Amino acid sequence: MKDGIKELLQKIPAMDKLLELPWVPDLENELGRTAVKALFSDVMNEIRTAIRTGNTRALNAQQIIDEAKKRMISRAHPSLRSVTNATGVVIHTNLGRSCLAREAAEQVRNVALSYNTLEYSLEAGARGHRNAHVEWLLCQVTGAEAALVVNNNAGAVLLVLAALARGKEVVVSRGELVEIGGSFRIPDIMAFSGAKMVEVGTTNQTHLWDFERALTEESAMLLKVHPSNFAIKGYHGMVDRAALAKLAHDHGLVFVEDLGSGMLVKTGVPVLDAEPTVRDCLKLGVDVVTFSGDKMLGGPQIGCVAGSSIFIDKLRKNPFIRALRVDKMTLAAFETTLRLYIKGDESSIPTLSMVKKSNEQMKKDAQKLARRIKNMLSSINRNNYELSVENVDDAVGGGAFPETPLIGWGVKLRIKGRESSVSLAEKLRRSSFPVVAGIQENKLIFHVRTLHADDYEKIIFALREVLTVKEGS
Ligand SMILES: *Cc1c(COP(=O)(O)O)cnc(C)c1O
Repeated sequence: MKDGIKELLQKIPAMDKLLELPWVPDLENELGRTAVKALFSDVMNEIRTAIRTGNTRALNAQQIIDEAKKRMISRAHPSLRSVTNATGVVIHTNLGRSCLAREAAEQVRNVALSYNTLEYSLEAGARGHRNAHVEWLLCQVTGAEAALVVNNNAGAVLLVLAALARGKEVVVSRGELVEIGGSFRIPDIMAFSGAKMVEVGTTNQTHLWDFERALTEESAMLLKVHPSNFAIKGYHGMVDRAALAKLAHDHGLVFVEDLGSGMLVKTGVPVLDAEPTVRDCLKLGVDVVTFSGDKMLGGPQIGCVAGSSIFIDKLRKNPFIRALRVDKMTLAAFETTLRLYIKGDESSIPTLSMVKKSNEQMKKDAQKLARRIKNMLSSINRNNYELSVENVDDAVGGGAFPETPLIGWGVKLRIKGRESSVSLAEKLRRSSFPVVAGIQENKLIFHVRTLHADDYEKIIFALREVLTVKEGS
């Protein structure tokens, strides 16, 4: 047995032989010699460990080399790259949430490639402030007196709690102690900010008197949190904003709302328009509203705080603001996105136009995609498939409107044969033009709501690539 192990270990190719393989120079150009060597060593070390623990019986040098090559090719690709989102989930958190408007992306490019006015006033020839680029615009679109931005909405909530309620009590309904994905939990962020959380009411019912009874000398804030990613059905009720605002103001407290997705304008989609806009919340008496830039707003990742100057001015002085500050590329994208709102040009914001996409348009798009898939399949002599254009369930996503499926259109495709749709979906994700599609009842589903104009071509290309590779290779 000992000898067997020794023999196997000796079969592992030597590093200098590996570095002489004909495909190595190309990958070295991309990755550098050090990384190529490190990747080879990783694979060889794994094999050594497998051999020593008796997990490898047969050792095939070619397989080892193939594995190393596969890993190097994957490392040589950009890791953060564009994909085709055929899931119908508009604000897909794993796929980067909102796509920027073209104008916003172009302004990012302009600002990134040159020096810029990030913290410089051209009028004064002196230092300016980075937040100034977006504050006035945010006030215009929300009706707020003052505004500022930080890294993301989680940061905005943290800043607001730390600056306005550190060491004091914050009263919040038990029905709103939510967890948003990615470890944002109201109780945790509250503890971290140094504010003391006072929970009132029950999971499904909280009354005004629950809040009233909880007030003490130590109370600083009433907090309302958007439930975002869940909905309570049946017997339930929360206190409305106007009543909470009155209670807060009668007691000299600040009334803060974490609005989560934060819509700036009505969309014309009735279910979505049942939600208040940021402007509505402020009008109802909320002093400070926080919301995300990359959910329904349709901009880059950013956290917005809009409300009364007395409170916003306190936030500006908090040390967290430096740690949470926003990069120039984000500010460029956000300023441009807000300008589209000011101009009434929201239809150029992909998130909004995708959410509002008409039934007729999506049906036409799905029929177009189906035709192109059919033509491509016929061009590669495949005729063993099922293809149909059908209604599909899309979603707003981003933890917004969990109970509101958007009805969309999609193309369902099943290639008959040994290969499952799950396996085809995986190959599509790994193709040269990565496509993320839905799967249902062993059929691939391409939802057209979230497709950009050039995605149709990419889907065809990816499908052709996947279906013309020999099975098993
Ligand atoms: C999404 C969300 C957050 C987190 O916002 P990010 O911009 O992702 O940091 C916080 N609160 C609520 C209610 C949310 O919906």
